[in-house]
Amino acid sequence: MQKIKILPEGLANRIAAGEVVERPASVVKELVENSIDAKSHMISVSLVEGGKTLIRILDDGEGMGREDVLIAFERHATSKLNDESDWMTIRTLGFRGEALASIAAVSKITLTTHTGEGPEGTRISLEGGHLLHVETVGTPLGTEMEVSDLFYNTPARKKFLKSTPTELGYVSEVVFQLALSHPEIHFRLFHQERERFNYPAVSSLHDRALQCFGETSSDQWMRTSRAFPLSQSPLHLITAFFSKPPLTKNNRKEQYIFVNRRPIKSASLSHAVYDAYSSFLMKGEHPFFILFIEIDPAWVDVNVHPTKREVRFQNADPICQAIKNTLRDVLYGVESAEGDPAQTSFSTPETLLYTSIPHSPREPWVGWPAAEEREKYQYKNHPQQETLLSTKSNTTAPNSLFSNRHGPIIRPLGQVYGTFLIAEVDGALTLIDQHAADERILYERLLKIGCQYEEAGRMPDTQLLLIPQQIDLPLHKVEALKKHLGDLEKFGLKIELFGETTFVVREVPVLLSRADLAALLLDMTDEWDIGREYPKNPDQVMTQIIASMACHGAIRAHQFLTHLEIERLLTDYFREKTPPTCPHGRPILMRYERSDLEKMFCRK
Ligand code: ADP
Ligand code: MG
Repeated sequence: MQKIKILPEGLANRIAAGEVVERPASVVKELVENSIDAKSHMISVSLVEGGKTLIRILDDGEGMGREDVLIAFERHATSKLNDESDWMTIRTLGFRGEALASIAAVSKITLTTHTGEGPEGTRISLEGGHLLHVETVGTPLGTEMEVSDLFYNTPARKKFLKSTPTELGYVSEVVFQLALSHPEIHFRLFHQERERFNYPAVSSLHDRALQCFGETSSDQWMRTSRAFPLSQSPLHLITAFFSKPPLTKNNRKEQYIFVNRRPIKSASLSHAVYDAYSSFLMKGEHPFFILFIEIDPAWVDVNVHPTKREVRFQNADPICQAIKNTLRDVLYGVESAEGDPAQTSFSTPETLLYTSIPHSPREPWVGWPAAEEREKYQYKNHPQQETLLSTKSNTTAPNSLFSNRHGPIIRPLGQVYGTFLIAEVDGALTLIDQHAADERILYERLLKIGCQYEEAGRMPDTQLLLIPQQIDLPLHKVEALKKHLGDLEKFGLKIELFGETTFVVREVPVLLSRADLAALLLDMTDEWDIGREYPKNPDQVMTQIIASMACHGAIRAHQFLTHLEIERLLTDYFREKTPPTCPHGRPILMRYERSDLEKMFCRK
């Protein structure tokens, strides 16, 4: 008996939908991409229950005529490929003609659209991919797409949907990323009728990045844009915004890569960015970056992943090399000699948009002390050198660094690379990671502050800011921070909301006097951002606050210290019997006994 049969079309479509439509965010991605491809100037996304109940996308793009509407929901129906050769040079975000068919197969849809030709537009409704109704209606130019009851006919998939905040988080991220790479389009996102973001059209990627990350965050990043002559290179343009070296993060959450404005994941491109930073990054540190690559479409295959999340390059090596060099030149303060975008002619208006970013100025970002200042703190000239030695206990037991009641004998010798301290501690040559050591000290002190508050309601020492600091946060982080203002106050950090997205810091704990408060808040809200892994119990919140505060309040790597500062750090570290690893578990110090050195030099 014959066993093999062809699946009925409806079932085949439902199965195929699984590849493209995984959750509300995948529907939103496909529909917003369609609106972008339709040359819209404004795209508005509205959701009910994180998109599980309803997704409504409104655009003012080209719209569809009645005949096109009737065919648009067929599989492989697309207006974006005319013949096979287009395939290689595709510039639109869509081209497979699968999205509408897949979405329609697992939801209920109403589409209303008008091309501007003739007085009226068309409305069509479908359920599970079956046509219910078509009518002629009066409607403005553009398209409105309503997708409701996602997975109503595939209960097994519906069961896998997460909570409303989680699904909302995924959708926000999708719209956020498409907005980031399309500054010429006005984007709005609403949830349960509340506006979550609103980015009016602007004229450059930089202006859009400011809307997305808040004006304040621009102090945290460097930017550059390098063009390559169209005739000589398939790679046309690299535009990047990326962390100033001391201001790195402890996670990879805020790293965005766009190839021809398509958000993608790429281990090799991301690796190129890390390569550019090389020694600026310590283990466990990650840069923030937004990387835009414009490249000849024939060099990229976007058809290797059903949702086009990954791409394949004909040859990734020269692209990675170019990324590394471009970023490195700015990181190391070398002015780039080639490819000033202002002097390069481009053929498409899309590309011109990128060139309106001013070329990155040389940015001095490290607080190097002036030469005479450094001279003043040279160890040999320092009068306190002996004092420190003589005030210490005379115990010299080699392995008693943390058990000695009076602390060990410390002889500070200096600092290398602005990052490691060198000292003789109880007779052993000791290298200390200055950031890790200070971070640990602060961590322990903040823990104590937290306990004192919990047990006795005692507040830590604070200082009033002479000029209160204003900090703008992107809308999606505002809610998260608002929830935890009370928790921060327990540590002496007093912050008030001032308007829609601006916070004002009036008072800070003394321990945080040197912290970059904007960086601290951006970092902390990363963890609390709705839809991401949300900490559930108060202990987790406390630990997170303490860890972020310790990290931002601590002396950074690449920061030159005066002799006094070195002394103070060493004394604090050894006196407080601080554990020998930083809060993330990295070692703080390395010890070489006299006998180790003697062995190394063959003296023994
Ligand atoms: P693709 O985007 O790969 O072409 P889709 O299934 O997403 O396939 O869409 C099918 C076609 O429907 C598109 O090629 C386009 O012509 C039309 N279309 C979809 N959404 C819109 C929209 N918002 N505005 C105008 N046309 C649209
Ligand atoms: Mg599409």
